[in-house]
Amino acid sequence: MTENDLDASALKSNYIRDLIAVDTASGRFGGKVQTRFPPEPNGFLHIGHAKAICLDFAIAAENHGVCNLRFDDTNPATEDVSYVDAIVEDLAWLGFEPAATFHSSDYFEQLYDWAELLITKNLAYVDDQSPDLIADQRGGFGQPGVDSPFRSRPITENLELFRKMRAGECAEGSRVLRAKIDMQHENMQMRDPVMYRIRGESHYRTGGDWPIYPTYDWAHGQGDAIEGVTHSLCTLEFSDNRELYDWYLAQLPLPGPAPYQTEFARLELTHTVTSKRQLKELVTAGVVDGWEDPRLPTLRALRRRGYPASSIRDFCSFIGVARTNARHDIELLESFVRTDLNRSSLRRMAVLRPLKLVITNWPTDTSGAPASDFRTLTNNPENEGDGTRTVPFGKELWIEHDDFKMEPPPKYFRLSPGREVRLRGGYLITCTGALLDDDGTPLEVHCTYDPLTAGGAAPDGRKVKATIHWVEAKTAVDATVALYDRLFTTKVPGDATGNPLDDLNEHSRELLEGCKLEPALRETVPGEVVQFERLGYFATDADDPLLFHRTVGLRDEWAKLEKRAKG
Ligand code: ATP
Ligand code: MG
Repeated sequence: MTENDLDASALKSNYIRDLIAVDTASGRFGGKVQTRFPPEPNGFLHIGHAKAICLDFAIAAENHGVCNLRFDDTNPATEDVSYVDAIVEDLAWLGFEPAATFHSSDYFEQLYDWAELLITKNLAYVDDQSPDLIADQRGGFGQPGVDSPFRSRPITENLELFRKMRAGECAEGSRVLRAKIDMQHENMQMRDPVMYRIRGESHYRTGGDWPIYPTYDWAHGQGDAIEGVTHSLCTLEFSDNRELYDWYLAQLPLPGPAPYQTEFARLELTHTVTSKRQLKELVTAGVVDGWEDPRLPTLRALRRRGYPASSIRDFCSFIGVARTNARHDIELLESFVRTDLNRSSLRRMAVLRPLKLVITNWPTDTSGAPASDFRTLTNNPENEGDGTRTVPFGKELWIEHDDFKMEPPPKYFRLSPGREVRLRGGYLITCTGALLDDDGTPLEVHCTYDPLTAGGAAPDGRKVKATIHWVEAKTAVDATVALYDRLFTTKVPGDATGNPLDDLNEHSRELLEGCKLEPALRETVPGEVVQFERLGYFATDADDPLLFHRTVGLRDEWAKLEKRAKG
C-alpha cells in the first residue's frame, strides 16, 4: 500500500454519515448534529477509545456541530478523579478539544425527579428481592421471565420506599428501583431493568450525597437528552440496550427532540486486547509495569513508546466504521506510525549490541595519539530543512555484533575477513582479522581504511555490497534500549482457552544495557522520536533521557502481509 492509497480512502463515506445526511435533510433535529464521547472514569483510554473519539469528533465537525466530553460516572466503587484527569490529558494529546465537559453525576437530581415521575406513572417500582433472585427471574432467550411479587406495589408505597432509599434509610443491596416494562419481552434488557441500586461507597464528585446510584441505562440516554445530543454513537455491545434507551426517553418530558443511538464495531487489533477490563487485568496481574507500559495499547503507553498522535488519528480515519466486528492487523497501525515518523524523525546512529572495531592504519596526530576526524551526515533525507550534523570518527569504533562474521554464510555481505564494506557516511574499510575468545565469539575486529574514500565513495568507482552503521568509541554515549515485541503470541489473545493470559509472549520486552549512541543523541528532548539508522524508530523516555523505547522497526510488515494476501 502506498501513502496515496491511504490518503484517498481516508474520506470514504460510512453508514453513520449517511444516517446523519437523512436526518439533516428531514430536519429531524433542525439541522443540528451534536455528539459526545462518554468514558467511564475507571481506567485509562486505549486505542479502541481513540476510534470512538475520532468518530464522535469527526461527525460533529463535519456537520458544524459540537462534540462534548461526558464522564459516565454512575459507579462510585470503581471511579476516581485521577482517571478523570488522565482522560482529559490523553484526549488533548490525541488532538481533540471538547466543546464542554459534563458528568452524568451532574444529572443525579434530575434523574431522581424523573424516576419519581415514572413511579407516579406506574412505570417503576421498588423491588425488595436480592440482586441474584432478580437476575434469575429475568429468564433467558426462549425462557419466560417471572414477575416479582413486588411488581404490583401501590404507587404511594413505591414513592415512600424510593424516598427512603434516597434518604439513606435502606441497607445496601436490600432494594432496587426497577422500570415496569414487560417480563415476557423478547429483549432481555426490557424485562423490568434496574434503574437504581443502593451503594455505600463515596462518589469522587458527590461524596456521600447519594446513597443510590442510577444504572448506565437509566443515566445514559437522559444525559444525552439533557445536553442536547442528537446522535449517540456507541459500540455494538449496546445494540440490545437501544430499545430501552428509546423507551426511557419516550416516557419523559424532554427539553428537545429525543436523541437516538447508533452502534458501530469496537476496534480490535491482532496480538493485543482493546478492552479496559482486560487491560486492567494485565496491570493488576503485574504482567506489565502499569498502564503506561509501552507494550500496552493505552494512549499513554503508545505516547511513551513514541506513536505520534497524528498516526493514530490517520489510522482511525482509514479503518472507518462498520456494523460488524472485525479485527485489524496491528501491522496496519504500525505502518501509519512508520509513515509519520519517516517524515518527521531525525536520523541518528546507535549500536545496540556493540563489538569493537579498530582501524589499524588510522593516522596519528603530532602528539602521537590517534588523529580525530569528523564526518558530516544528513539529519533527515525526507526534509532538507533539518540540515546536517557532524559526527566524530576515529581509530576505534563500535559496530553491531551482527555486522561481522568470522565465517560468512552464503549471501552475507557485511564484514568478514578480507571483505570491504562502507561505514555509513565514513570510509570504505577492509577487514584484516579479529580477536576471538575461546568459544570463537569475536572480541575485536581489525580493519584498514582507505583514506581516499571519505564520505563513502571510492574515486576508482569500485563498489561494496554492504553499508554498516557505527559509533566512535571515545565519544560514545552509553544508554539503555528497550525492544518490544507483541504482547501476545496469538493474533486473537485467548482464542483457544478464553483467557488471554494463556497466550502471553514471554519475550515481549528485551532490555539492552550498554548500547552505544552517537553524541548528538545526548541532545534528544524527552519523548522525542529519532530513527536509529538501519534499526528502527526509538523514543526517549519522558523521565530518563538515556532510556530509549523502540517505537517500531523499519520494515513495513503490513506491505508484506498485503502482498501475501494478494498472492
Ligand atoms: P471496556 O468495555 O473496553 O472495558 P468501556 O467500553 O467501558 O471499556 P468506556 O470508557 O465506558 O469504556 O467507553 C467510552 C466510549 O468508548 C464508549 O462509547 C465505548 O463504546 C467506546 N469504546 C470503548 N472501547 C472501544 C473499542 N475497543 N473500540 C471502539 N470504541 C470503544
Ligand atoms: Mg464498555
